[in-house]
Amino acid sequence: MANIVIFCCPKVTNKLGCSCAECLKEMRSRKGSYERYKNSQCLDLVGIINCPGCPSQSGSERIIQVMEHLMGFDVDKIHFTNCMSFFCAFRYEYQLLLECRFPGIEVILGKYEPPVQTALNNN
Ligand code: SF4
Repeated sequence: MANIVIFCCPKVTNKLGCSCAECLKEMRSRKGSYERYKNSQCLDLVGIINCPGCPSQSGSERIIQVMEHLMGFDVDKIHFTNCMSFFCAFRYEYQLLLECRFPGIEVILGKYEPPVQTALNNN
């Protein structure tokens, strides 16, 4: 059993309307960064949270407050979405902040696979 929080970018979810469907699909099918879990292992999605905004617009520490609200759910892992893991210039800053404040929680970056690579893997 692993209690999981998915951490995503509001520029993608709010502005582009992404529903996190691909990341949720990966979680269910144990693909990408979810390959580490056995199929028999139960994954409990505790929540999907947004980054508070680029640090120039909003203090990056606000993510700590957001996470603290979820601590009653025994969070084990925070998975960054693939887009955030690949495109966000501040991903390592967020990873460090979360790891320092919540040492018992593993922070895992997504495994971005470009569509061409995915097509090659499937053939
Ligand atoms: S800091 Fe990264 S995840 Fe947050 S809004 Fe900016 S680009 Fe998106």
